[in-house]
Amino acid sequence: MGIRTGEQVLAGLRDGREIYIDGERIADVTRDPRLAGGARTLAELYDLQHQPEHRDTLTYASPGTSERFGLSFMEPRSQADLVRRRKMIKLWHDHTLGMFGRAPDFMNVLISAFASGADAFGPDYAKNIRAYYALMRDRDLVATHSLTNPQVDRTRNVAAQAKDLAAKAVRDNDKGIVIRGARMLATLAAYSDELMVMPAPGYPLPTGDDARPYAMGFSIPMATPGVRFICRPSVAHAGSGSPLDYPISTRYDESDCMAVFDDVLVPWERVFIYRDIDIFNNIYRCTGASAAIAHQFVIKDLAKAEFMMALAFALVRTTKVDEFQHIQGLLAELINQTEVIRSCIIASEAEGTLSSYGIFLPATGPLQAMRFLFPQMFRRACEAIQIIGAGGLVMVPSFAEIDGPLATDVSTYYQAAGADARERIKLFRLAYDATMSDFSGRQQLYERYFAGDPIRGAGALYSAYDKQPHVDRIWKLLARFEDEAEHLRKRSDSK
Ligand SMILES: Cc1cc2nc3c(=O)[nH]c(=O)nc-3n(C[C@H](O)[C@H](O)[C@H](O)COP(=O)(O)OP(=O)(O)OC[C@H]3O[C@@H](n4cnc5c(N)ncnc54)[C@H](O)[C@@H]3O)c2cc1C
Repeated sequence: MGIRTGEQVLAGLRDGREIYIDGERIADVTRDPRLAGGARTLAELYDLQHQPEHRDTLTYASPGTSERFGLSFMEPRSQADLVRRRKMIKLWHDHTLGMFGRAPDFMNVLISAFASGADAFGPDYAKNIRAYYALMRDRDLVATHSLTNPQVDRTRNVAAQAKDLAAKAVRDNDKGIVIRGARMLATLAAYSDELMVMPAPGYPLPTGDDARPYAMGFSIPMATPGVRFICRPSVAHAGSGSPLDYPISTRYDESDCMAVFDDVLVPWERVFIYRDIDIFNNIYRCTGASAAIAHQFVIKDLAKAEFMMALAFALVRTTKVDEFQHIQGLLAELINQTEVIRSCIIASEAEGTLSSYGIFLPATGPLQAMRFLFPQMFRRACEAIQIIGAGGLVMVPSFAEIDGPLATDVSTYYQAAGADARERIKLFRLAYDATMSDFSGRQQLYERYFAGDPIRGAGALYSAYDKQPHVDRIWKLLARFEDEAEHLRKRSDSK
């Protein structure tokens, strides 16, 4: 089938899936005002694949056929391939200002990495993950994933929870495995064709038979009987005035859902991990998937940082606050953010290596560094724009006021030195939405947690880091200083 158009993607979402929001079931996510904006954004991304000027950036030719595939499915076999995939990812995330973090390239890169390292899934399931990758690529499908268990009592591991709530395999039969319970947190679920349930990197299961039912990895179509999704309330502000009042929220709210499994049958050909705790706990490391996905999300970080910097540049020119030194300092910080992120991406590509599967993997060090730094950078960028805009961020009326009964007041009192009232209101609403709205709050939470718990991640980084050479260096240095001190002492004694 090859690359789909936006219209085909939207048609695929009208499949009878069970999505609930605000206490009601959604009949059609592409038409419901709370969800339609995200669906339109998704469609735009797929339409870009068909634009002649983007075709070679966003798609690649299937060897030996005229079919084209989305380039985020490409398995990079050289540094040039990785750079090519970076350009694809950057284009989609520039289009969405880095605010639609779960654009489908995220899962496409992950699934490609799993397929490339399929042997790590073991002899029973390697063919399943390869076939799944081929299905996703050939039909240009959209996936979400759910990796973590509901928050009940975090002092106990999932197998030792007082209540039996987390999703697990309750039985199997000749057709497949049967799943019961809940999983969080599936971003983009409202707009996906497929749900993938996999381990969370850095959240190992304990060994022991009690944990085996939770040691699973599989995928199912969103409309599989027995699976339902509970969405958090929308932050799209749909239906309240002009879309220009919340220009980002209305477009890029991705949806976040709890997935509930009511004895859902997963056919054997869709099972990737089953009751094998060793594979469950090590699949990211063994496939190289962590490095592949980190490359994707740091490229998203760059798109987001560049947008925030551009927004700040535009804002300061309206009220001319870039005359002030501390504002210049903030702008310099935003410039530096983009330079550091770009450098990390390039370093990860320059120091990448070929895996044993023949896949070119980026170096993880620079990407991991950005995984820890970017949440702070993004919050700082929001703060910088709040300091630049100050009271102006709330002294900005709804867009409707421009043509309302007070149109003359509005055009007079909302003008700025560098923008008329209409321009200023448009720009300040954009800045408000990016840095202060509930959409922005969700973005800040997303950056902190979407790649797992940074606290436990920091502990894991410290444990895994090769510290011994650095410690040895310090002791060698002290030995040298001591020798030198002794030498000096002897010299002065001999005088
Ligand atoms: C906006 C958003 C989108 C997301 N999208 C997805 C998605 O699409 N798919 C997906 O699978 N996941 C997604 N995630 C979930 C993400 O993987 C988790 O939020 C993350 O792993 C943290 O887990 P948690 O939220 O359950 O927090 P918890 O594990 O409950 O942690 C809560 C607090 O307790 C602390 N804590 C908990 N346990 C320990 C411990 N053992 N030791 C020390 N401290 C501990 C944590 O540091 C944290 O401060 C998303 C998260 C967010 C916020």
